[in-house]
Parts: sequence; structure tokens; C-alpha cells
Amino acid sequence: MKPFIADLHIHSRFSRAVSKDMVPENLYRWAQLKGISVLGTGDFTHPGWCLELQEKIEPAEPGLYRLKPELAKKVDAEIPESCRGEVRFLLTSEISSIYKRYGRTRKVHNMIYASSFTEVSNLNDKLAQIGNIRSDGRPILGLDSEELLRIMLELSPQSLFVPAHAWTPHFSVFGANSGFDSLEECFGELTPHIKVIETGLSSDPPMNWRLSQLEGITLISNSDAHSPSKLGRECNVLNCDLSFEGIKQAFTNGFSPQFLGTIEFFPAEGKYYYDGHRNCQIRLTPEETRAHQGMCPECGKMVTVGVLHRTEALSDQPIGYRPEKGLPYWSLVPLVELLAEVRGAGVNTKGVQEAYHHMLARLGPELFILREIPLADIEENGGRLLALSVQLLREGHARIDPGYDGEFGRVRMLSPEDRD
Ligand SMILES: [Zn+2]
Ligand SMILES: [Zn+2]
Repeated sequence: MKPFIADLHIHSRFSRAVSKDMVPENLYRWAQLKGISVLGTGDFTHPGWCLELQEKIEPAEPGLYRLKPELAKKVDAEIPESCRGEVRFLLTSEISSIYKRYGRTRKVHNMIYASSFTEVSNLNDKLAQIGNIRSDGRPILGLDSEELLRIMLELSPQSLFVPAHAWTPHFSVFGANSGFDSLEECFGELTPHIKVIETGLSSDPPMNWRLSQLEGITLISNSDAHSPSKLGRECNVLNCDLSFEGIKQAFTNGFSPQFLGTIEFFPAEGKYYYDGHRNCQIRLTPEETRAHQGMCPECGKMVTVGVLHRTEALSDQPIGYRPEKGLPYWSLVPLVELLAEVRGAGVNTKGVQEAYHHMLARLGPELFILREIPLADIEENGGRLLALSVQLLREGHARIDPGYDGEFGRVRMLSPEDRD
């Protein structure tokens, strides 16, 4: 088995604020353009999406699915030869739990990965008795996270439970607004069953390594994509058996040689890295927030405390601490953003989009271009400045205006001198 890339958190067209293009055919296409071999289906709790999946995908390796050949054939014609590869689907879903615990309102997103439609239907039958799973692909249930985990362990013990984007302020296990200070507070006696957390776009492994309480926990990364072109912006590099169990073992054994590491955003590019108020255009570092007693200097209300602040608050290890078993990670910037910067144009402009697809057709999938393709080949097909951008990226040099309170950060690779 060669190493492969897995992105196991996305949403379907049945979730709020998600592109209508999130259908199996487009997922299959874009997984190949990105270089992803195993893609989460998202939203298996939604009856409409579940039905569409059952119509369009079929069993492949144990616990994994493939797009039916008659559908795949139609899409293949639109995929450049250079990007073609096998794509497998893994059944995933995310549940938004909103509930009271220890006298406070908690809002936590958790994911469940399942290895068959039988497991999915067992879970869905139970969840449908608890709340409405039809209105949204990411259902909102008044169900305690610990209770959700208990249900999964009872009805589908082979499945894997993963707290989603563990640090986002509004909807996560450690979130500053409505989360907890420890996994134990959230999951009680079932905490030993939490072996894996998703770090989210605004945090990277070094930020998580500063918490001793996470030392035995595997950190994974996924895109949480709401449109096809965002697939793989964060993902996992695995070198395990291509099967549900292979992937589950690689994650839960944690630091096994089957899990090579994660592909990450620069966390400052995430939407909740710094603190602040988007509406007031106030962005604060954690120190600045403390100096203002947590209040917005513009409107006087409490600011949204971001992920950097929150990880620091819960950390008990110094900056730069790396546990013995900390996995490698690679910080990347989407190729369209590099192209947009080089050309001084927006990411959705015709020129940038054409250049993007031209490069994929010439060189291969995006993640391969960003990580592996020789710079000389990038220069030949994308020009000298783009090759320099990729070189700087690989060396870890990015200049970022950090994101805050729902506003993405802005990354630049090139200085005015580079352009000269
Ligand atoms: Zn979520
Ligand atoms: Zn404000």
C-alpha cells in the first residue's frame, strides 16, 4: 500500500449554507483533482442524503464505498488524465448537540464514522426518536455529547466517535463560549472511548501539544468543506490498509506508523485564530484581550475569544513543547490562493481559475503539486513567481493577517522584493 490521503469531514447539499454542488459525482471529481483517496460522505443522518448515497455508491473494500461505475464513467471524461485515481467513500456524519450540563448551555459538534449502512440505519432510527434529523444534514439535537457517545457504543460499537473542530468558540468540546475545560467534563465515564479529536482549521498540532490532557489523543484534520473546491484543505496522510478498520486502527493506535501525519492550514488563516469582533473590525491578540478585560474597545461587549487564546488558557506546557509521539504535519495554502496572489486577482476570476485547471492538467492533483512536484516543473507551468511561492510555502514562510470572530485570515507568500 502506498500512502494515501483521507478527508473525513464534509457536508452535503442537505446541510445549511452548503453548495448545491455537494453531490457524490462532484465529490468524486474533486477528490481526484485534489489527490484525495478516501473522502467522508458527510451527513449520513439525513434521510434524503442517505438515500442518495445508497443509490449512487456501492461497497468496495471492507467498510468503504465507491461511486457506481456507470456514474463514474460519465465523470471520468471531465477529469484530466494527470489527476485520475481511485476514490473511496467512508460514511461520516456530524451532530450538533445543544444541551445543559453543570448548569451551563453547551454546544458541541461531534462526528461519527460508520462502516456500513446497517450501522447508519441503527443510529438514525435511534436519533430520529430524539429529535429532527430531517431538517438539516447536520442535525441539531438536545442530546448530551456523552449520551450520543453512549448510543453509538451500544448500537454501533464498531463506529468511531470524533469530537469535531475541537477548539472553535461556538460549537466545540473545548470552545471558549459553550465548551468544556477537559474531555472528562464533557464525556464523563465514557472519556476513555475518545481516542481521536479533530483540531479544526484554526489550530495545528503544536497548539494542541501544549495540553498534557491530550497526550494520548490522536489529532486528525479534515476540510469541513461546504463546497467541492474546498475539499482537502486539511486532511490526513495514511499508510494503512485501505479499509474502514485499517483507517480506524491507524487513528486509534494513534502514533502507529500507519498514520504519517496531517496536512494543515496555517492556523492564523483560520476564522477563529485571534480574538475580536468582526462587526466592530476589532482584532485582538490574547494579551490585548486580557488588557481590555475581555471587552471590545469599540462596543464594550465581550469579544469572541479565539482558538489561540483558548489553547493557551488550557495549556500546561510551554510554547514549542513536542510530545515524544507528536506526528509530523505540513502547513499548506490552497493553490488558487497562491495563483491569485501571483496574478494580483481574485481567486474566483477567470484567469486564476484557468491557470489552476491548467496546472492540474499538466502536473497532477493539487496536493501533489503543493507538496511534491519539483519546483522546476512548477516554474515551467506556472511561472517563476508561483514556483517561488511554493518554495516559500514548503519552507514554512507565510505572512498572515490572522483570522478572528468568523473572518478568515489573509495569507501572502511574496514580499515586494520577491516580485522585483
Ligand atoms: Zn461543525
Ligand atoms: Zn465590538
